Amino acid sequence: MEASTVYFTNLRTTPSSNLLDKMERLVKRAGIERIDFKNQFVAVKIHFGEPGNLAYIRPNYAARLVKLLQNLGAKPFLTDSNTLYSGKRANAVDHLHSAMLNGFNPIAVPCNVIIADGLKGTDCREVPINGAYCKAPKIGTAVVDADIIISMNHFKGHEQSGFGGALKNLGMGCASVGGKLELHSSSQPVIDAENCTGCRVCAKYCAQAAIRLDKEKKAAIDYRKCVGCGQCVALCQYSAAVLGQDDTSERLNYKIAEYAKAVLWEKPHFHLSFIMNVSPECDCWNHNDAAIVPDLGIAASFNPVALDQACADMVTQAPVLPNSGLAQTHPHAHLQGRDKFRLMHPETNWQAGLDHAEKIGLGVKKYELITV
Ligand code: SF4
Ligand code: SF4
Repeated sequence: MEASTVYFTNLRTTPSSNLLDKMERLVKRAGIERIDFKNQFVAVKIHFGEPGNLAYIRPNYAARLVKLLQNLGAKPFLTDSNTLYSGKRANAVDHLHSAMLNGFNPIAVPCNVIIADGLKGTDCREVPINGAYCKAPKIGTAVVDADIIISMNHFKGHEQSGFGGALKNLGMGCASVGGKLELHSSSQPVIDAENCTGCRVCAKYCAQAAIRLDKEKKAAIDYRKCVGCGQCVALCQYSAAVLGQDDTSERLNYKIAEYAKAVLWEKPHFHLSFIMNVSPECDCWNHNDAAIVPDLGIAASFNPVALDQACADMVTQAPVLPNSGLAQTHPHAHLQGRDKFRLMHPETNWQAGLDHAEKIGLGVKKYELITV
C-alpha cells in the first residue's frame, strides 16, 4: 500500500517568518493550490471553542488561510454544527455569539460564519454512503452544499474517542444534532421527566408521531414508532429529550469515520492539524486542562487518515509536560513513546477508528512525513 504524504512544520520562527507565514508555506508545499477554487463555495470547518475554553485554534490562522483561499478565487466561509448537549453552541444564535466572542468575527477573519445545521440543528441532509454502521449520515446542509471542504483541526485528547483530529472534526463536527445522536448513542432518545415542561414541541415535530404527553403531562416516546432521528433532542429547549445509552468508543469511532466519509463525499478536500495546546479533553468543555505535551507544530495533508496517524505518532513520541494531569497521575512512569490518549482515557480506542477509516477508503494510515 502506497504511503500518503503528510507535511509538517515546527514552531520555530525568525523575524522574517512568523507562524502565519510558516502555515501558509506549509499548505502551499502540501499542494493546496492544486485544488481549483475559482468561484467555489469552500466550507472551512473549524471548532470555535466553547466560551471559557482557550485551547481552540486561534482565529489568526483561520484569517490567513481564508485570505489565501480568497486570493485563489474561492468563496470561503467558516463553519461548525450545533452541539447535542446544552451549552453555548447548541443553537445557531448562541453558537454565532460564541464564535464572535472567541474571535471568529469579521474584524479578525475576513469571511462569514455559517452554522452548518441551522438554527436548531435540524437543517441537514442524509448522504447515502451505505456504511456498515450509518447508512446515510445526517450532515449539516451548508457543508453538504459546499463545493470544497477545508478542515482546520485542533489535535487534542478526547474523553470518548481518544483524540480529536481530522476525522472527528469532520465526522462529529459536521453532523447535525440528529446525526450526533446517531454517533453517540446505541439507543433511541429518552425523556427526563423531571425536566419536561410538557410544552409539546417534540410531539409536534416528530415525523413518526412517536411522542405524546402522558397523564402527568410529560412527553413519552413510543419506541415501536421512534426511528432515532434525534429531532426531539434538537428541539427540546429544556434538556428533557436527551441521549439514550452511550455507544462504545470503538463504535463511536467507526461511525465518526463513516460520517467523515459522508462529509467528503465526491468533494475536493484538504486538512490541517494544529498540534498545539494538546489538552486532555475536547474543546467542547468550557475549560481546558494543562497541555499534556509541548506544542509540536502544524501538519497538513490531502489524506485525513494519514494525518491523524502522523499526529498521534508525534504525540506518542513527545515527552509529557511535568505540570500536566498525565504527569501527576503517572509520577514515576517514563511516558515518552507511550500512547498518552489511551493512558488518559483507558476506555477509548482511537486505532479502531483509523482502521475502519482505511477500510472504507477514506485514506491509508501509512505516511511519509516531510518537514517544511
Ligand atoms: S421533552 Fe422537551 S420538547 Fe418535549 S414536551 Fe418535554 S420539554 Fe417540551
Ligand atoms: S428520535 Fe425522532 S422519531 Fe424518535 S421520538 Fe424523537 S423525533 Fe420522534
